[in-house]
Amino acid sequence: MPDGLAPTRAPLVDQFGRHVTYLRLSVTDRCDLRCTYCMSEIMQFLPKRELLSIEELDQVARAFIQRGVKKIRVTGGEPLVRKGMPELFTRLGAYLGKGLDELTLTTNATQLEQHAEMLARSGVKRINVSLDTLDPDSFERITRRGKLDQVLAGIDAALDAGLKIKINTVALKHENMHDLADMIAWAHNRGMDMTLIEVMPLGETGEDRIDQYVPLPMVRDALEQEWTLTDVSASIPNGGPSRYVRVEQTGGRLGFITPLTNNFCAGCNRVRVTCTGRIYMCLGQDDHIDLRAALRESDHPDDALNACLDRALFKKPERHEFSIHERGQDPSLERHMSVTGG
Ligand code: SAM
Ligand code: SF4
Repeated sequence: MPDGLAPTRAPLVDQFGRHVTYLRLSVTDRCDLRCTYCMSEIMQFLPKRELLSIEELDQVARAFIQRGVKKIRVTGGEPLVRKGMPELFTRLGAYLGKGLDELTLTTNATQLEQHAEMLARSGVKRINVSLDTLDPDSFERITRRGKLDQVLAGIDAALDAGLKIKINTVALKHENMHDLADMIAWAHNRGMDMTLIEVMPLGETGEDRIDQYVPLPMVRDALEQEWTLTDVSASIPNGGPSRYVRVEQTGGRLGFITPLTNNFCAGCNRVRVTCTGRIYMCLGQDDHIDLRAALRESDHPDDALNACLDRALFKKPERHEFSIHERGQDPSLERHMSVTGG
């Protein structure tokens, strides 16, 4: 392959009849930012030897495509801080039209200015950019170090390169509640969709989740004081957790990801592979299968990989079990989002 890559092995179907067609592939746990809801100020990152090499990431992607995965999202940590991304995107881009329908990326956009053209050349059409505020001071506080200008330059470069952008924004009680309407108008005005996300209790970050968490139905109610929001979810059959509305006043699309107030696990079509080669079948559960050992130690790595995929699918749980309800509550999982790949 790419000669004849298209699904040649049994599709990935779990015990609940859900087809897995979407892989989130994390390429690093490192990041140049330290968002207060994602990481703690002092993070221990993995030594490089623990990470899958570019060749191994490619091998994993191929195994999934052969089992019917149609969409791959490269994520992290911050994927664009890892060396070798042009090579990885070139390799994965070669599978487009040969089993793979979409190759995409989630990024904080700090390095996007340098990489936008490369992504477009590799066949990437759309990317997600995470941005929680347009206020430079608030941005520096939320990310504990970031410079907003760098991110805005990255967004400009991506739009110039012809990439479509969706802005992902975590709703944060004390940081951005009052700016969300302006951000939505800004995104829609530039032709970008936007999705709001409820903060999830993943990993210690040095902040209490109860001081961050805002239920999105409350945000929707507030937006509806000014805007008309029309449900359009039914026309976007993506199997994803986002539920979309059209904002009639801006003409743009707005998504809501509400893992805490509303659970959409029944339609889940995805699994995650970490940068060390662990398959996590659910973002909100700890069960995982180690692919790296199969890759590195087996005499027949392709067969060993496929056996791992079968085991993983069999173990995919029905739903996550997140909750945030009291001060001082431990995170639902010790694992940070940056480890699993958001
Ligand atoms: N660094 C890249 C970025 O920020 O886009 C990719 C990885 S990041 C872990 C992926 C997404 O996860 C981001 O949109 C981020 O806002 C979100 N995220 C991180 N921790 C989260 C949490 N505890 N709850 C909800 N979303 C979270
Ligand atoms: Fe880094 Fe993304 Fe986590 Fe922010 S959300 S600290 S940018 S991995």
